Amino acid sequence: MHSVPEALRAIPDNRYAEQLRRGFRFLRFSQLLEQEYHQYISKVQARYQKIAVLLGLGIWMIFTLVDVLRLDLWQRFPDYPAALWGLLLVRGSIIVMLGLLTLLLLTGSRKQHGPRVVTVTLLSLVLGTTLTIIFYQNLSVPISNSVLLLMALTLFFPLGLSFRGNLLLAAASLPLVVMPGLLLLSETQQVDHLRLCFIFSLALLICAMGAYVRDHTQREQFLLLQLLEWQANHDPLTALHNRRSFTQHLDLVLRQGNRESAKVALLMLDIDHFKRFNDHYGHQAGDDALLQVGRLLQSFARRPMDMAVRLGGEEFALLLYDCNTEQLQALGEALRNELATLNIAHTTSPTANHLTVSMGARLAMDGENSEELYRRADSLLYQAKQAGRNRLVLG
Ligand code: GH3
Ligand code: MG
Ligand code: MG
Repeated sequence: MHSVPEALRAIPDNRYAEQLRRGFRFLRFSQLLEQEYHQYISKVQARYQKIAVLLGLGIWMIFTLVDVLRLDLWQRFPDYPAALWGLLLVRGSIIVMLGLLTLLLLTGSRKQHGPRVVTVTLLSLVLGTTLTIIFYQNLSVPISNSVLLLMALTLFFPLGLSFRGNLLLAAASLPLVVMPGLLLLSETQQVDHLRLCFIFSLALLICAMGAYVRDHTQREQFLLLQLLEWQANHDPLTALHNRRSFTQHLDLVLRQGNRESAKVALLMLDIDHFKRFNDHYGHQAGDDALLQVGRLLQSFARRPMDMAVRLGGEEFALLLYDCNTEQLQALGEALRNELATLNIAHTTSPTANHLTVSMGARLAMDGENSEELYRRADSLLYQAKQAGRNRLVLG
């Protein structure tokens, strides 16, 4: 709808930024993101569903009460013309129907039924309103056809349907407005009715445009919110998790490990002589090297509970869930070897002629808290530095 803000180009690739850059003119995200959005938006809108159905029921009952009063139903009972019976039948069925739907919404699992309940409710209201207008005409009762326009507004109200859902609903409602008029009205009345149908279609069109803009804005807001959260938890250079996210996750993983008797491993990593690297190759080359180390580390965080982190500067961490000492040792060696294979030249390093790292790693002991684990792994890293760098010291 509008151009991508310049700042977005600087954000590393993640699904939210990418979708924002690509746009979503047709109100569809990529598959995964679309699911995520639906969960988010149905949570937001489910709140209104109950209120909306109750409101519909309330308004309908008020109209019914007005009928009872102005058509003098008490006095005339049961001497009613056919159209009046028809009107009462419509009034009554809609009340029963909305009552049942309200019960369903209040008791059942809303998430599953929500959109279907809303669809059925709105379609029956459209049909009910149309029939009411028709029976009024046959009873020669003065009416305001514009109530049908209220229905057009309601069809596009944000009640948990997607924009496509709204469009389908609008399309399905048209025959419900047109057909009863053709079946139940006299020829002269039909002309008026078709005019009303035309205005109704126009109202639908205008409401659809408004709903499109709203949906687009809502989607954009969703992406920006998620992006904000992503940025709060990730490092912009390497796109790894940041220290803040790591601290939260470490506590969670330790608790989960205790519950499931799974060992948690923490590996701390620091690039050797990185100051010299920067001094010699420049800051941009330094950034590129950080990016490569970050990618390498991420490739070792394969399972859902694992996490690769940039703690800051040239310090990284790898959190592994359900790991033993042998695996940890093998992983540290594999990391060292793969970095050697990348062969990032570092001619000013006293340790090797390529970029190397020092690592300290250990498994969390039973009942060890996150600060203790962190401190001990950090001191193992310090030992690795002291022992000559380019190595792993295992606790
Ligand atoms: P050691 O082997 O003892 O770890 O020495 P070192 O030079 O790696 O450690 P030191 O802490 O003295 O220097 C870290 C350097 O990392 C300082 C800084 O120039 C560089 N650095 C920190 N963050 C960044 C960054 O985001 N980009 C770049 N290019 N360099 C960074
Ligand atoms: Mg260093
Ligand atoms: Mg350091």
